[in-house]
Amino acid sequence: MFKKILIANRGEIALRIQRACREMGIKSVVVYSEADREAKYVKLADEAVCIGPAASAQSYLHMPSIISAAEVTDAEAIHPGYGFLSENADFAERVEQSGFVFIGPTPECIRIMGDKVSAKQAMIKSGVPCVPGSEGALPDDNKEIIRIARAIGYPVIIKAAGGGGGRGMRVVHTEAALIHAVQTTKAEAGAAFGNPAVYMEKFLEHPRHIEIQIMADTFKSAVWLGERDCSMQRRHQKIIEEAPAPGIPRRAIERIGDRCAAACKKIGYRGAGTFEFLYENGEFYFIEMNTRVQVEHPVTEWVTGIDIVQMQIRVAAGEKLPFTQKQVQLRGHAIECRINAEDPVKFVPSPGRITTWHPPGGPGVRVDSHIYAGYFVPPNYDSMIGKIIVHGDTRDQALARMRTALSETVIEGIQTNIPLHRELMVDAKFVEGGTDIHYLEHWMAARKQR
Ligand code: ADP
Repeated sequence: MFKKILIANRGEIALRIQRACREMGIKSVVVYSEADREAKYVKLADEAVCIGPAASAQSYLHMPSIISAAEVTDAEAIHPGYGFLSENADFAERVEQSGFVFIGPTPECIRIMGDKVSAKQAMIKSGVPCVPGSEGALPDDNKEIIRIARAIGYPVIIKAAGGGGGRGMRVVHTEAALIHAVQTTKAEAGAAFGNPAVYMEKFLEHPRHIEIQIMADTFKSAVWLGERDCSMQRRHQKIIEEAPAPGIPRRAIERIGDRCAAACKKIGYRGAGTFEFLYENGEFYFIEMNTRVQVEHPVTEWVTGIDIVQMQIRVAAGEKLPFTQKQVQLRGHAIECRINAEDPVKFVPSPGRITTWHPPGGPGVRVDSHIYAGYFVPPNYDSMIGKIIVHGDTRDQALARMRTALSETVIEGIQTNIPLHRELMVDAKFVEGGTDIHYLEHWMAARKQR
């Protein structure tokens, strides 16, 4: 096992990885930007290295600074967390070329799956069903683009091959709007992701977002760890996740889970990964794969009893998966609410100093967050400041526990989306289960009318 790991990330996931290392007796090195210097998890780290100013481009995205931090601290491996460089194949390659272990899949796998066009092609080859759409990236010829859209049928969605985080997507309802939408998405994708390639998919009107967590080792063993329902989204970004997905027949999930595990073996995947699907009328359609740990991994950890972050580290160190598919048993129900520092109605970010922090507790409650009273939420990064996760024997019990947890939580000094979560946890449709990916936005639009 490694003696020392460098954590190339910040905030709650840096703390989550630090905790996994502690439990395993591994020393951890935390890198931080000037904006994160005062954070408690930085102060409590075995070692901490400043890698630059607040701007991500000069710190958390700056590869040479991170690699030098690993060199000066004699770390053996680098955990990239999520976001930042976690799905950057060039980074994974440079980490390995510099003699460190990258805690994640091979650079080749990241490259194939990181480009949504090549990912879809790989999945079609592995027998995983995809959303109907263009074969590969869209051509330059407008007539051809119009022909493709007609063949798919409106509405369609234009998506950036290099997109992520819910950005780089545009829905098109009519032919009149098509070419302009393609051109704008291309221009935006070029600027935001350094890759102007876009592709087209059928825009599904009432799907749910269902994803499969997988874990693979370097001995050709790949296992899927159940599913998550992440349909509660705003602007294509998840805010509530749960496991298992309410109301979907187990047989259907098992079939798609087995396909994902088989695809992993086929592409030589290692480590943790997620296959994301849209689910409509009883069918699953692959949309993309994430080649890293996800924000919502705790709900899977709770229903399976498997520590996904520790497992990532073990697999990277060359250990075999300690369980088979048959041994993965789901128990109870878990729900996660993402806590964002933002206005709960208008969603404008609300950085600043937290004056009061009273976290929830009690049976079946887990809080993954790096915040504390006196912590300053920097304006430079994503607004997510933590997650509240609950578990119950049944979905009803998990919901009741989440309501209690949210009622206990106090954060003062900044605004958060906790009031929004409190409302959603008593919303009749959400409580019933099985709402689609557009539900939250429709709900918010209706709230505005009230
Ligand atoms: P990202 O990498 O930015 O997360 P995804 O491809 O995973 O992008 O899509 C994010 C979300 O966008 C999905 O969960 C879904 O809500 C919506 N979406 C993506 N593709 C489609 C589609 N073909 N039809 C309807 N909604 C879609």
